[in-house]
Amino acid sequence: MIQIERTPWREMVNHAQASYPNECCGAMIGSIDGDQKTVMFALALDNVSQGSQRARYELRPEDLLRADREARERKLDLIGIYHSHPDCAAYFSETDLKNSCPWYSFVVLSIQEGKFDHANSWLPNAEQTHAEKEELLWPES
Ligand SMILES: [Zn+2]
Repeated sequence: MIQIERTPWREMVNHAQASYPNECCGAMIGSIDGDQKTVMFALALDNVSQGSQRARYELRPEDLLRADREARERKLDLIGIYHSHPDCAAYFSETDLKNSCPWYSFVVLSIQEGKFDHANSWLPNAEQTHAEKEELLWPES
């Protein structure tokens, strides 16, 4: 299960709404205790996907390394990645699966007509052939 604290959740939703109609992406930092994850910080990252970003996002590998370093400096972990789906449900697409890493949680925020609608968290398997839905709790849920 993944729980997102109020401040990072607001930042994630604001980032996703501000990026509409494009996709946004970022890192989630916090603590991991068994399969209980708590997101305490959100780090907005650049979507560097070339061409239309309405249905694509791409992170710079060095941004992810920076997020990982920042997490360790705070004695926390890089829990995962969030990104938005403009005018689309918060499912995990084929592309999402292909670009995933099995050790991270992937939170997808559905933004409908510029406003937050719903979110899901996904856990890809090691083969990146399937992603399982992870229980997700956010402050207003
Ligand atoms: Zn996606």
